[in-house]
Amino acid sequence: MEQIAAEVDVCQLCPLHAQRTRAVPGEGHADTEVVFVGEGPGYNEDREGRPFVGAAGGLLNELLRAIGWKRDEVFITNVVKCRPPGNRDPEPAEIAACAPYLRRQLEALDPALVVTLGRHSLQTFQPGARIGGSHGTLRPAPPDTGAASAMTYAMYHPAAALRQGSLKETMLADMAGIPEALLEARRRRAPTASAPDSAPAAPAESDAELELEAIAVLETEVASPEPVLGLF
Ligand code: URA
Ligand code: SF4
Repeated sequence: MEQIAAEVDVCQLCPLHAQRTRAVPGEGHADTEVVFVGEGPGYNEDREGRPFVGAAGGLLNELLRAIGWKRDEVFITNVVKCRPPGNRDPEPAEIAACAPYLRRQLEALDPALVVTLGRHSLQTFQPGARIGGSHGTLRPAPPDTGAASAMTYAMYHPAAALRQGSLKETMLADMAGIPEALLEARRRRAPTASAPDSAPAAPAESDAELELEAIAVLETEVASPEPVLGLF
């Protein structure tokens, strides 16, 4: 990851390098199962060289806190690593030029879940999808994104919720779906590990035993309110 960040810091592969103050490779936990992918650095990110440190970042932190997660437990990056002047949308050619960095980051992190923030990130991971219909839904990530065994979960961009207050409730609701999305993504990754009922021909168990097992499962779920954040 440091190698990729070092290359991004000096990259001149697209015109966005010309007006940047600092490139913004991304940051987070190297062993995390969850990667958030935004659009591109804004004013504050460009000055600090870190993703989501401005107002949109404040909202992202708040949304993460709402499910008991901290930003340094996940990885946060963008589809373009340098700020589009005036915060304009990144152009397709810029996104394409920058894509190999994101792909290599995802190959290195091998996440279970990629959360897309906003339209441009959604287009990268679910080409053709529309945010209005896709937010809060889970789809397999195309392997050529580098997230070969991940699911992607679509969300609106936090900046959109800052402009349009009513979207914040939607974002909170979508965020609340992330722990279950991660569990589902884990199940897809290791179908046998977490699905004992699909194990080959186990000896038949009595109803009482099955019931005990069911209770044990229930208790684990109740006893540890954040079973999904043994994130590492
Ligand atoms: N918006 C983004 O898409 N990314 C950032 O890093 C900050 C704001
Ligand atoms: Fe390089 Fe990406 Fe920055 Fe363009 S946006 S200069 S491809 S790091």
